[in-house]
Amino acid sequence: MDFMNYYMPTKILLVEDVVLKNSSLFNNFGEKALIVTGKTSSIINGSLSDVTSVLQKEGILYDIFNSVEENPSLETVENIAELGRVQKSNFIIGIGGGSPIDASKAAGVLINNPTATRYNLFDSPHLKSIPVIAVPTTAGTGTETTPYSIVTDNELQTKRGICQRVFPEYALLDVKYLMFLPAQITINTSIDALSHLVEGYMSSKANVVSDALAEKGLKLFGECLNMIKEKDFTCIVREKLMLASTIAGMVIAQSGTSLPHGMGYALTYSHNIPHGKANGVLLKSYLDFCLDENKVRKILYLLTLENLDDLGDFLNAMLGSVNTVSYEEMCSYADKMVLNNDKLKNHTSPVTREDILKIYTDSLKI
Ligand code: NAP
Ligand code: FE
Repeated sequence: MDFMNYYMPTKILLVEDVVLKNSSLFNNFGEKALIVTGKTSSIINGSLSDVTSVLQKEGILYDIFNSVEENPSLETVENIAELGRVQKSNFIIGIGGGSPIDASKAAGVLINNPTATRYNLFDSPHLKSIPVIAVPTTAGTGTETTPYSIVTDNELQTKRGICQRVFPEYALLDVKYLMFLPAQITINTSIDALSHLVEGYMSSKANVVSDALAEKGLKLFGECLNMIKEKDFTCIVREKLMLASTIAGMVIAQSGTSLPHGMGYALTYSHNIPHGKANGVLLKSYLDFCLDENKVRKILYLLTLENLDDLGDFLNAMLGSVNTVSYEEMCSYADKMVLNNDKLKNHTSPVTREDILKIYTDSLKI
């Protein structure tokens, strides 16, 4: 039997009108909430008004920070924390894609520790956050069930995870918020979830529970594959993708991500390639490099694909190719990635700079 280590404290509720039907749960966290969201989508998809109406109903005061950008910066995290500290917020409700929810987790740590600075997000793992409730409006990152928060560090010119572990108290899932997600964001984010399932399944930290979850998530994704190809995003398809994404979060909460995520951050930081696409373009060459052929075959089977070339064709058709990265840039990304022990240790065999460079050059058109 594999070594077992499974911990998932987030309560997950998935039901139509989940926020409206569960207003009383917000009472558990104090009298003052801080809502953190992106620029416009939460207004359009109704998630923000659902949350504000239940807070009003429950008599909970709230402030709103509504300008979290994609790939949130540490400056934004500090601005959210400043608001939360001044307003003495007791808990945070992160509404949106991974960016606002991740920013909520990092800001929650700073709010709970008034003297902490951005640097403590990377050197003081014992710091705790105020409670975070996650209301996801994309189906991709799974951040509603992970303890991770990925932020953009403009000083170090990269994206990186904070060192604290912040599991949301609740993940409130309602597919109605995702119904008008544009097709390309739906595709990119779903492929982020696929990357989590694949990297989590292949990880050196995978265990019997995370594998069972990953297999279920891959099966759900496989059931949606043809509809993703056709961009036929019905409510049923979106709900399956939402579930696959949340399950994928539960997988990487145990197993972490590995090479595609570590390598993709450079593509996002330097070439503004959306997170899901950045992982997805590397995924086929990464699987070519993985040694556990049985697990690779199982992934393809669950995705209803014959072989890795079929996976490559699917990803290429959905994401398009990336041809803006020079060979010199790939070399410099490989130089940095080979020092990223957090990601390398999640791969089951030793990884050299040349292995990393080969995955880049095989994946990206020069
Ligand atoms: P995102 O950056 O949160 O949002 C992307 C875009 O989608 C934004 O323009 C947003 O608009 C829009 N959007 C969000 N929900 C929408 C909806 N329902 N309808 C229409 N548009 C909508 O995208 P994401 O892919 O979900 O998150 C990516 C971030 O998560 C990255 O920083 C990545 O590194 C991180 N991530 C975290 C984890 C983790 O475990 N913590 C795992 C993987 C990735 P608005 O700005 O108007 O809201
Ligand atoms: Fe991701």
